[in-house]
Parts: sequence; structure tokens; C-alpha cells
Amino acid sequence: MNCERVRKLLYPTPAKCEVTVEHAEAMAHLRSCEACRKTIDARADWSRELQAGFPTEKAPDRLRLKIGAIVAASRPALLSSRVVQAMAAAAVVLAVLAGWLVSRATSQAFFRAICEDHAKYLSGESQLASGDPRQLESWFRDKTDFGVRVPLLGTSELLGARLCFLKEHKAALVFYRKDNRPVSLFQLNARDVRLSGLERSVIDGAPLWRMSYRGFALAAFEQRGVLNVLVSDLRESELLQLASTARIESAGY
Ligand SMILES: [Zn+2]
Repeated sequence: MNCERVRKLLYPTPAKCEVTVEHAEAMAHLRSCEACRKTIDARADWSRELQAGFPTEKAPDRLRLKIGAIVAASRPALLSSRVVQAMAAAAVVLAVLAGWLVSRATSQAFFRAICEDHAKYLSGESQLASGDPRQLESWFRDKTDFGVRVPLLGTSELLGARLCFLKEHKAALVFYRKDNRPVSLFQLNARDVRLSGLERSVIDGAPLWRMSYRGFALAAFEQRGVLNVLVSDLRESELLQLASTARIESAGY
């Protein structure tokens, strides 16, 4: 048995090594081989030095208890509670997103219906034909739950007005004509309508909402709780100009 084999068999020391059938032969070698004895003695010294030089550090009792308590408390619940929290957060995000999509779709459907109503009343079938804003306003007074304001729109001709229903909401409808094109101004309670289906612009420092639908341009603005919606087949830029005028005129009261 050579030295290398003996040192391997007696690793780390004869007292601590694994005892095999070769153990007796290795011990016999060790008794007769000074080199192996020195090597194994050195190992034992090294082992003792290691243990003396690096005693096991213990954390303060208070800290160990605290960490132990945290681990014990969180071990069964930590993962699942994180998953539940993530799922709850995802559900909230999805609900908000779905709500927003539904709201936007509902809003778009509402404003399309307004365009269709404009098309339906293209001939301007007024219940009251008048070019006098005050007369039209007083006619609406006991017919709506909001104050109807009839603005004059620059060179546009004021033709008259009627009541209409938009998705069960009562609205005032005022007819104008500009450059021989019909223009409708719908007014309704702003709390009944979401604007999320429209595109928001800022004109003259105030927000204005707009959309295009089947060749019609639509522009909307809110004033004192009343939603004003202008619809026409005029160019969008012309309609936005009219809406801007309407807003300034309405604010002048
Ligand atoms: Zn040897």
C-alpha cells in the first residue's frame, strides 16, 4: 500500500476516518512510515487551528428569535399572499381597463346617435321656428331640467328648436344654417354623458371634444353643467370655429 493510498484512507485522521477493510493495513503502514505520520499530524493541527480561529458566530438571541418568528410566520403564507396580492392588483387593472373600454364604447355609441339624430332632422323640423334666441330659451324653460342657452353663431342663421331624446336623455336641439349647410346644436345635462369616446383638443385655452362620423363632424364642450354638441357636415375646422364661438357666446350670459 503506497503513501498516497494510506493518506486517502485515513482522511482526515485515523480517529475520524471512515473504517474500511483496508484500515488495518493503512494503520500498519502509518506506524512504519514517518512521512505519512507527519502529514496526518499536520492535518490534525490544521483542523484544530481552523476550529480555534473561526469559532461559529452566533447572532444575538433577540435577532435570532425575531428572524425565526418572521420565517415561521411567513413560510406557509408568504408566496400565496404575494400571488393573491398580484392577482388582486391585476384584477383591479383589468376591471379599470374594461370599465374604461365599456365607457368609451358607450360614449362613442352615444355621440354616433347624436350624429344620426342630426341626419334625421336635416330638414330642420322645428317645434318652434324662430330666429330669436330669447324666445327659444323661454320655450325650453319648462321642458328641460337644465337651462338652455341659445347662442348666436356668427353669420349662421338661427332657424328654430325642438326637444329630442338621445338614449332616453332629454335634449334641446337648436337648428342653424351656415353657408347653406345645416348645423345642429344639442344641449343636455352634462352629468348624463361621458366624453371618453371623443378626442380632446384645447382651443383658445379651453377643452373641446370632437369626433368624425359618417361624413359628419362633431364638436362638444361643457358649460355650467350643460353639454353642448354641435354637429354638421361642414369641414371640421369650420365646425370647431363655430363651437368656439358658441362657447364664447354662451359664456357671455
Ligand atoms: Zn507512507
